[in-house]
Amino acid sequence: MARITLSINRRSVLAGGTALAALATLPRMLRGQNRSQVLVLGAGLSGLQAALLLQDAGVEVKVIEGSQRVGGRVLSQREVPGNPESGGTSFSPGYARLMSACASHGVETIDLTPIAPYFMQRDLYLGGKRIGGAEWALHPLNPFPEPLKKIAPFQYLGAAIGPRNPLTTDDAWLAAENAALDMPLDAWLKKQGWNDAMIRMAYDIDPGWGDSAQDVSTLMMLGALRFAQTQRELARGKPMFLTAKGGNQAIPEAMAHALKNPVEFGRKVVAIEAGKSGVEVRCADGRKYVADHVICSFPATTLRKIKITPALPPAQAKAINEIGAQHITMMHVVPRSRFWEAEGATPGMASDGLINMVIAERKSTDPEVVTSLTVWLKGRNALQTDKLDRKAAEATVITEFEKLRPAARGQLEIIAHHSWQRDEFALGDWAVWHPGQITAFSGVIGKARGQLHFCGEHTAVSNRGMEGAMESGERAALEVLQSA
Ligand SMILES: Cc1cc2nc3c(=O)[nH]c(=O)nc-3n(C[C@H](O)[C@H](O)[C@H](O)COP(=O)(O)OP(=O)(O)OC[C@H]3O[C@@H](n4cnc5c(N)ncnc54)[C@H](O)[C@@H]3O)c2cc1C
Repeated sequence: MARITLSINRRSVLAGGTALAALATLPRMLRGQNRSQVLVLGAGLSGLQAALLLQDAGVEVKVIEGSQRVGGRVLSQREVPGNPESGGTSFSPGYARLMSACASHGVETIDLTPIAPYFMQRDLYLGGKRIGGAEWALHPLNPFPEPLKKIAPFQYLGAAIGPRNPLTTDDAWLAAENAALDMPLDAWLKKQGWNDAMIRMAYDIDPGWGDSAQDVSTLMMLGALRFAQTQRELARGKPMFLTAKGGNQAIPEAMAHALKNPVEFGRKVVAIEAGKSGVEVRCADGRKYVADHVICSFPATTLRKIKITPALPPAQAKAINEIGAQHITMMHVVPRSRFWEAEGATPGMASDGLINMVIAERKSTDPEVVTSLTVWLKGRNALQTDKLDRKAAEATVITEFEKLRPAARGQLEIIAHHSWQRDEFALGDWAVWHPGQITAFSGVIGKARGQLHFCGEHTAVSNRGMEGAMESGERAALEVLQSA
């Protein structure tokens, strides 16, 4: 029996019902002989979800992974106090599949509600100068109109657009009637009356997708706001943000542990060839695998480097080659003192310089204790530090931090550092749909070709991030079961 849903999310219940129906219709011969071999490429959440569903259906599954760990873009820094995340950071109770995986595989969740109020405590640094929360509403650099003038720049987009979001369902970002919104966010915001200063302050100094509002599709941003709204509605009366005990990486680890065939590590895939008798997969070390079906869970960034034979149809190949990936670099800093108290400031910050944001992690039993500081470099800032070697990049960030906050001088030690662009098995972070790409690519990017199937967060329909990955793995497993 597949374990795929909790009764939290109506859409997930529907998805779960479909999954169970598909399992029931799995050809008796296949189930009886347990013969169908499926090879899953990649041990991130999407690949593991697909593998476990197939295993539960009685199918023999093998998972191979290029790196030496499971989790992919879920990466907990266990060498840093409190296990802060360099990847998938938090989730909500409405992540039905992820919650179900935690429940099924014995992963405890931690309720972040007690520290939620601290999360938005970030002093603003513009042009190198600190602007305290109380000063912002009247500050000459504040471009926002009333009644939202008091809102911090990083909260403004959600506050201003969220309540007027034209997308009313989680999959509406893919609906043909919304295709006109597949335009640059910058241009759309101007149609809503925004000026350049507002766009810069609310988006470009801390871009969630792309390097600026010019290179992200409005539909993508509205889809993300809609998903966040759904999560808030589903969480009513429950804690909004959760993490896994031991770090979120404990979730894929527990999922992998439940596989009968252990994940094979160090298998960097370089070629996939589909033939009449199955699909052959070749690795960089010359190793070969053959399977009746292959599910490839790689992000588009690494998938585009793989030789696929026969070649994918041009529209699909173009989609895989051209969809964007967010540039993100994370550094985890342990402060030697509570230097912010000397400044009369908060430990967290947002800036329009090299450091987009700093989140004060409070991952001990006492929310007053700051266990580490997570430095986020996004978009062009992440690319800029990627040009330097590791030590030089860290020195540049520390210098910038200390320039903005002199009390931090000598107080910062970087314990962990992860550039997603430099990670050869990610080559970037979450998918970014540039203007026009949702209309052009969403229908083809994850389409199965014969016995070759695709999953991964970039192929999700109704969910995003970690739950999007899980949704896509479920869909790929169902494709295999239905085509068997
Ligand atoms: C900084 C950051 C913050 C995030 N915050 C959140 C959040 O708060 N909430 C949320 O829901 N989501 C968040 N996400 C997104 C979420 O983590 C991802 O969407 C999700 O984990 C993607 O899973 P996936 O299975 O699609 O891909 P991946 O996790 O990337 O899995 C793909 C796997 O394939 C392997 N692989 C790739 N290429 C090859 C190859 N050639 N050969 C062999 N193996 C290969 C990789 O090593 C990897 O294990 C965040 C991500 C990051 C990086």
